[in-house]
Amino acid sequence: MSAEVIRLKPTRPCPICGKPSTQAHYPFCSGRCQDVDLNRWLSGAYVIPAKDEPEAEDGESEVPSASEEDDET
Ligand SMILES: [Zn+2]
Repeated sequence: MSAEVIRLKPTRPCPICGKPSTQAHYPFCSGRCQDVDLNRWLSGAYVIPAKDEPEAEDGESEVPSASEEDDET
């Protein structure tokens, strides 16, 4: 058994400014950064882009070939 210093939760850097987080505002370093993060969420900065066509500046992407049915009877 080792008698090392018992560490509490590993300190995580504040995702906003990178400073070590505090227990009071975990995982942020302060209420200010906590607020900043919240505002980011509210302003949609974290919005994950849905399935978007990578190249669609022509306004006309690949047209599905649905009307390509030849009636050969
Ligand atoms: Zn911070």
